Amino acid sequence: MATNGEEQQTQSTRHQEVGHKSLLQSDALYQYILETSVYPREHEAMKELREVTAKHPWNIMTTSADEGQFLNLLLKLINAKNTMEIGVYTGYSLLATALALPDDGKILAMDINRENFELGLPSIRKAGVAHKIDFREGPALPVLDQLLEDGKHGTFDFIFVDADKDNYLNYHKRLIELVKVGGVIGYDNTLWNGSVVAPADAPLRKYVRYYRDFVMELNKELALDPRIEICQLPVGDGITICRRIK
Ligand code: SAM
Ligand code: CA
Repeated sequence: MATNGEEQQTQSTRHQEVGHKSLLQSDALYQYILETSVYPREHEAMKELREVTAKHPWNIMTTSADEGQFLNLLLKLINAKNTMEIGVYTGYSLLATALALPDDGKILAMDINRENFELGLPSIRKAGVAHKIDFREGPALPVLDQLLEDGKHGTFDFIFVDADKDNYLNYHKRLIELVKVGGVIGYDNTLWNGSVVAPADAPLRKYVRYYRDFVMELNKELALDPRIEICQLPVGDGITICRRIK
């Protein structure tokens, strides 16, 4: 059993803030991961992009460095070549992806906001991987419908979804057709700042409360979907890795 002192210690190291980049209960432990295993191995251009993004008013949206490292390694493990990203912002996860792909690899990247993507573009160019990126400005859903109309079924090795959470199930309907059997879809923020287990009367920020039900619905649907195997990881704000099996 924890002593009072230990309990106080746990309480004081517990972070409360929405948007903290880890769901780990101890900030010190999270810092340890970053400083020991992530920052020393972070590509120079990723560091630059992370620092540029930190100055942007919406920096709460960025992918964390540990999640970027995870995505980069995952893509290499599955030998991904043809990929997609929905939700680019300034491009931290996009650069993590682009650096993992072979030189002739491709990322179809979509975001309704081009300006933020352009903030990160100089770092992406410096890394020498901009040629892998096909950026489309606009909502992702019509692009997915067009891909299906064009018969691009089963052509993507990896898809990272990190955009409007109220559309994730609409994306899933289409992405499950677009990813190849054996390919992977990663849905981001599936623990939604821990709010998925918050009591009904918990004081949540408006946007957290609004999207929470959509995230919970998605989690239920993914768990029931026989076309995929899943693993929900507490990396970043929670990422659910789905492998298409049929
Ligand atoms: N993956 C990014 C990174 O590593 O920094 C973070 C993405 S941010 C959490 C979500 C992004 O989704 C925003 O840039 C937003 O403009 C974009 N977005 C929102 N609705 C969208 C839609 N319908 N289609 C495409 N992008 C959308
Ligand atoms: Ca995210």
